[in-house]
Amino acid sequence: MAWPEQYGGKGKGGFFTFILSDELQYHGLPYDSMSITSVGSTIMTFGSDEQKSEWLPKIQAGEMTFALGYTEPNAGTDLASLQTRAVRDGDEWVINGQKIYTSSAHVSTHVWLAARTDPDAPKHRGISTFVVDIKTPGITVRPLWTMGGSRTNETFWEDVRIPADALVGELDRGWYQASNALDLERVVLGASTSRLRRGIEEFVDYVKAERPDLVDDPFVRTSVAETKVDVEMARALSLTCAALVDTGMTPTMEGAMSKVWSSETAEHMYSRFMEILGPAGLLDRDEQEAPLEGALERGWLASPISRFGGGTNDVQRRIIATRGLGLPRG
Ligand SMILES: Cc1cc2nc3c(=O)[nH]c(=O)nc-3n(C[C@H](O)[C@H](O)[C@H](O)COP(=O)(O)OP(=O)(O)OC[C@H]3O[C@@H](n4cnc5c(N)ncnc54)[C@H](O)[C@@H]3O)c2cc1C
Repeated sequence: MAWPEQYGGKGKGGFFTFILSDELQYHGLPYDSMSITSVGSTIMTFGSDEQKSEWLPKIQAGEMTFALGYTEPNAGTDLASLQTRAVRDGDEWVINGQKIYTSSAHVSTHVWLAARTDPDAPKHRGISTFVVDIKTPGITVRPLWTMGGSRTNETFWEDVRIPADALVGELDRGWYQASNALDLERVVLGASTSRLRRGIEEFVDYVKAERPDLVDDPFVRTSVAETKVDVEMARALSLTCAALVDTGMTPTMEGAMSKVWSSETAEHMYSRFMEILGPAGLLDRDEQEAPLEGALERGWLASPISRFGGGTNDVQRRIIATRGLGLPRG
């Protein structure tokens, strides 16, 4: 929706993207926002004309999908410490190293990879970003299962040879591309409020139909009402981000605020609803009596991930304080 028409989009801007993604999520339908909004838009800003004309139509058509290859076992929050190396050899780059939490690598066609190209430069400087076909020989993808049941991966890179033109943007300046993609990733992560809106609706319907003993309880009514306020706040923050994207800006402080608020709202929502239902809220989907077919237990286990995905909420608060409010780095 937001992409310019020259790249096969509709040129309609951030609000339309938000509405599309919001509606699809509400109805439980997939939408690969990460490839389209985070990686695709970053390629649009930093990629060469050849890269844009080759990759963008494929991303738009869903033929090219991305896993994000930033984090390493010793480089999470301190991402600039990453050690995966890319060394130029003739017309190719040779990649060696290890990534962790390369979510979706088992279902994506490509990895958006951050690798060190100059080990002697200051650590934020010697990093470059690449687009790598996941089928390239030398890449091993191993599953890591989260407590919520979803899969992420560790990926091992052994003499992985990719063409020279897989480098996106300026050599050794990949930190800026990665930061831009991460800012947009947080906008995507924050914009997950319609599934929470639906969660409230389903919970209220459930209580009315199955637990009429609870409908007059002041604690229940207050908890549900507070959750509704929180979810609408999250939606408003997402819309603020959409408005900034519409004006061609990359929301940094606003993306961080949106991601912090919506991820913590999700956790509060599941905790509150489980508390209301008591032990029944703990039942998982395999139990016949599980309320909402186990959705509360599943959501409660899965929701903490959003606190660390895309950068932890502690770090988002630092971004708000420093890049947003101009406070000195502590
Ligand atoms: C399920 C899951 C999926 C993920 N998917 C991806 C993915 O697809 N691609 C990808 O590249 N990465 C992914 N990540 C990685 C995620 O971005 C990192 O986990 C995150 O950046 C934190 O890094 P870390 O786990 O190494 O924790 P650490 O950096 O070791 O942090 C540990 C704790 O210390 C705190 N901390 C660290 N430094 C500071 C600081 N300076 N100020 C305040 N507090 C600080 C953190 O907030 C955190 O609480 C995923 C993570 C998870 C759990």
